[in-house]
Amino acid sequence: MAKDYETHLAFDPILERVVTKREATGRIEAKLADNLTWCFCELCGNLTEYSAIRFNPVVVKKLKNENAKLVPLTEKMISLGLERAKKLAKHYSEALSGKYGPHKASQMIARYGDLVEMRADCSVESFHEYIEPKMKLREHARPSDLAWTTRLAGSASDGPKPSKLYCEKHHPSRSDSSRRAYHRDRRFIWEYRALMEQIWTHGFNNLTLSGWDIEDHADVRREAYRQVKALRSPTSMLDDFLSKGTMTQAEIARQLGISRQAVSAAIKRRALKKRQESDR
Ligand SMILES: [Zn+2]
Repeated sequence: MAKDYETHLAFDPILERVVTKREATGRIEAKLADNLTWCFCELCGNLTEYSAIRFNPVVVKKLKNENAKLVPLTEKMISLGLERAKKLAKHYSEALSGKYGPHKASQMIARYGDLVEMRADCSVESFHEYIEPKMKLREHARPSDLAWTTRLAGSASDGPKPSKLYCEKHHPSRSDSSRRAYHRDRRFIWEYRALMEQIWTHGFNNLTLSGWDIEDHADVRREAYRQVKALRSPTSMLDDFLSKGTMTQAEIARQLGISRQAVSAAIKRRALKKRQESDR
């Protein structure tokens, strides 16, 4: 069966060569297909190594035999980009006032903007803020090519590829400390996901969160991860509270600054562990 692959130009900063990259399939393809959550680490609120790179393209000049070099950004390119952004923003503000017909403003958003990244704020300021870096990049890349580096900054030539699933702190093959963090937090992945669910439900009910806002996705993940950290690090604290036997789950949750459901999940996990140990 024929498959459609998305390809993009990739630049290897150590070898100074360009290669064409194909997107992955299966689990990773499914993750990348979600246009709001594709960029986040599976275990915390950080960006994956891969998306951190995709958000920061580099400009390269292709040379003979697949060789390439980075093109430096000059003052002139910056000022040209700023000028172009200013002109476009002025045009957009006129479009908003209806000068070019009823549809021009939304057409400009579709062409130059991104409603998710602009957080549905269609003001002139928001439009200007969004297009400014894009226009600088456009001037930078005008006579050259845009590419995405194949390695993380500062990683060794035999280092692992940027992970599409995990951030730098959680990529198990990145370093000893990231491997430890991966194994430590992997055990709490179900608590992490359950906490995210709870925070979303709570936020939807209170109308404080909206599913299309990428910042909300980041906030929910950060908050869930904070609670996971509270759950796993002060284990002795939780055990202290439990051994007293006088505090309710709600009181313990308040003391630790986490949700009651998280405390309940931690107690269940402990009970399960004890049972497994006594079965051995
Ligand atoms: Zn992470």
